[in-house]
Parts: sequence; C-alpha cells; structure tokens
Amino acid sequence: MNYTFNITKVEKSAIHEFDFDNIPFGKVFADHMFMADYIDGQWTNLTIQPMAPISTHPANMAWHYGQAIFEGMKASRDAEGNAFIFRPEMHAQRFNKSAFRMNMPQMPEDLFMQAVHTLVSMEKEWIPKQEGSAMYIRPFMYATDHSIGIKVSNTYRFIILVLPVGPYYNHPVKLLAQDKYIRAVVGGVGEAKAAGNYAAAMYPTTLAKEAGFDQVVWLDGVEKKYIQEVGTMNIFFVINNEILTPALDGAILDGITRNSLITLFKDQGYKVTERRITIDEVMEAGKNGNLTEIFGSGTAAVVAPVSTLQHNEEIVELDTNNRPISLWAYETINGMRNRTIEDKFGWLSPAK
Ligand SMILES: *Cc1c(COP(=O)(O)O)cnc(C)c1O
Repeated sequence: MNYTFNITKVEKSAIHEFDFDNIPFGKVFADHMFMADYIDGQWTNLTIQPMAPISTHPANMAWHYGQAIFEGMKASRDAEGNAFIFRPEMHAQRFNKSAFRMNMPQMPEDLFMQAVHTLVSMEKEWIPKQEGSAMYIRPFMYATDHSIGIKVSNTYRFIILVLPVGPYYNHPVKLLAQDKYIRAVVGGVGEAKAAGNYAAAMYPTTLAKEAGFDQVVWLDGVEKKYIQEVGTMNIFFVINNEILTPALDGAILDGITRNSLITLFKDQGYKVTERRITIDEVMEAGKNGNLTEIFGSGTAAVVAPVSTLQHNEEIVELDTNNRPISLWAYETINGMRNRTIEDKFGWLSPAK
C-alpha cells in the first residue's frame, strides 16, 4: 500500500548551524519528524512536520501507566552520498512484537517502512559523512487516552525522530554482575522494547557506576545464575575460540546487532553457540585464561569491548588491545554501513 503523508516543511533548515564534527549525542534533531495517530482502530493524521514540542494532556495514560515502546536503528551514507538504512524491516517486526506484548495496536509494516524511508530521504543531508557517524532513527509509540482509570488505551501516537550521531567512542567497559537487582524474567516484558524496562534499570546502574563500573550484567531472575544481557546490550563471550551468547529465552531482547553478528561470525567460519551461560563458568574461564573477549552488542555502539568483569569478590581482567573477534565484527558492520565492505546479506536498504 502507498500511504499519503501530509508534509509541512520548515521555512529554513537548521543544518547550517550544526557542527558535524562535534555531535552531542541525542540532543540535536533533524528538521522534521513523522507523526501518526491511532483513533477508532485506524492509523490516521499521517504527517511529516517540523520537529517541535507537542502538547499533551496531564492525564495522558502513557505517563501514568507506561504503555510506551520504541525502536532504534541507523542510517548511513556511502561515498556518493546515497543513504542506506540498516535492516529496517527487522525493526518494524520487533516494534510490532513489543506493541503486541504491551497491548498496543500493530503498526502496519508497510506504513512503518514508508514513514522511515520518506523521513530519512528527506533528511539525508543530516546523515553525517564522518567515519563511524550515522543518523539514529527513533520510532516510538505511546498511549494517548486521557484517563486516570487503569485500562487499555484506545488511542495512541506514533512518532519517528531522526538525529545525527557522532562516532560512538568504544572505550572498554567495566561490568558488574550482581544478583540483588534483575532486569527481566521469562513471562515479563524483557523481550519488549518497552520504556519501563529502562526506567527499572536506572537505579541498579547508578549503584554500579558509584562503585566504579560502567554497566550491569543482568542475571536471570530465578536462579541468579544465567547471564542475560549487559546494560541495554546483548552480550558475547569468546572462550577457547568459541563465540558464546545467551540463547533467547523470552526475557532477553532479541537484538538485531546480535542477530547480525551471529550471522557474520558463522559465515566467517567461527564456532558460534547460543545457549544458557552461567556467570560461574565465565568467571572460571577468566581465571584459567580461556576467556579472551567479552563484548556487548547494540545499534548505538555496534560492539562495546569489555575490560573488566566482577562478580562477588572475583574479578576478571581482559586485554582489550588484543580482541581480534570483536574488532573485526565492529569494522565489518561499520564497513557495510559505509559501503566499503560488501553487503553480502542484503542488510542495507537504500532510502527511497
Ligand atoms: C535495543 C536493545 C538491545 C540491542 O538491540 P539492537 O537491535 O541490536 O539495537 C539489547 N538489549 C536491550 C535491552 C535493548 O533495549
């Protein structure tokens, strides 16, 4: 289906006041945003309009009861200036999985795709050309009924924001595996990119930061034994040259970077295993020298190398100057995005 968007353009683009060599993360946006409303069982008011604050009723249900979900993906440009979006259909599908779990309406995949493509094409000049930089695309949806009574909202708003982001400085991160706080349990909402998951992770992360760490390693909520994720990323380990990542269990977010890395590693001939992984076996492998790399994966950082992992009194240190697997993965994904490495899996969708 081809949808009709009502497009209102800014009088003057703010792009000329923007310093592409000095991009503050998440604070400066392109000129326009996409917006749609779900009313009477239909998506209507499909608009692209100048990026600006919007007014909201104080009893807006999303604020009180948290029906709010989001996605995060990236667009990049090749040397000729053509724009490409990384696996947008995967993000559209995951968005609908999150919506389903939060009792929110589905966003037709073709509408999601057309909105992302149209907005990115319009804002192509905002995609930084600098190495490692990209345009971050943030689709989100939230309940908009005004009601203090708890119920499923009947109306929703869907918005897409696009913003230039600088090279993510992949400084090695220090991780704390703790068993006091958990992120998600099977049957909960860990699999959904639901706003509340991030709110719930903030306090334990603040505690970890106060103790000198960067991120929390989340353990399963039942036995506090199996590793789930790190911060807001999926996690990988290299033990005896085997690449391990926790199997999706219903509590772990099904990361698109995770999925891409597994495909790349297998294609490169590495042994990749998705299974339950205990914190004890990782600490043990660290002690006896079999653990050579730990890294997080996610759209923002692509790959985040880990220098330290602590659990109880035990500490494992990793040599982040010698991390061939995670470095190769980072360079491959970034190279695909800049079109300097062949996109052999067809992950890049030309913006149209
Ligand atoms: C978004 C997210 C990830 C990473 O997913 P990508 O699709 O790779 O960006 C991992 N864990 C959590 C909790 C997330 O929210």
